[in-house]
Amino acid sequence: MIKKEDIPTLYTTEEIIKTIPTSEYKEKYVNLNTTMSACRQCPNYSKNWACPEFKEDVLKYWDEYDNLELTLTKIIFKKDTMNKQYSQEELMLIVDNSLFRQRNILISQMEEKERRMNGKLLSAGYCGQCDRCSRLDNKECRYPDKCHNSIESIGGLVGDTLSGVFDEEIKWIEDSKLPENLSLLMGLLY
Ligand code: SF4
Repeated sequence: MIKKEDIPTLYTTEEIIKTIPTSEYKEKYVNLNTTMSACRQCPNYSKNWACPEFKEDVLKYWDEYDNLELTLTKIIFKKDTMNKQYSQEELMLIVDNSLFRQRNILISQMEEKERRMNGKLLSAGYCGQCDRCSRLDNKECRYPDKCHNSIESIGGLVGDTLSGVFDEEIKWIEDSKLPENLSLLMGLLY
């Protein structure tokens, strides 16, 4: 079994930043019906305050800011790591300690920029700030400043953004093996 503390040594990262007018992004890469179909299949649907279903019209966020700074982080696995087969449990541990580890590092850096620019940080996936999200107990979010919607949760099409803005394609875990890289897409509306 792979050890959690060894996982950060299995990959390197590459960060690419691109800025696009929000109106252009909304026109080309936002489709809430498509993202909601995927979100409804997710175990976190309506169980985390960063995830749908939302009471408010989340499409409004695309109209409230002029620009979207997109940050693509490529989690690049070392060759000997890619050629191995892993159990489901090991793959979950690797994703948690590579993709979500990098997400949490980037959230801390971007929160400072979000405050400075009076913007809105767009994260990836559910909010992992608390061990148990208060939404499960029908209570208000404990740390609204730390709860960040993902790009997908407000309609952003991540695969189309990767290909159209970054000329990259999403790679998936297949046959119990890691791909060459996983992609983490986050953004700052400002
Ligand atoms: S900060 Fe805590 S309560 Fe709020 S969305 Fe995140 S996990 Fe849930």
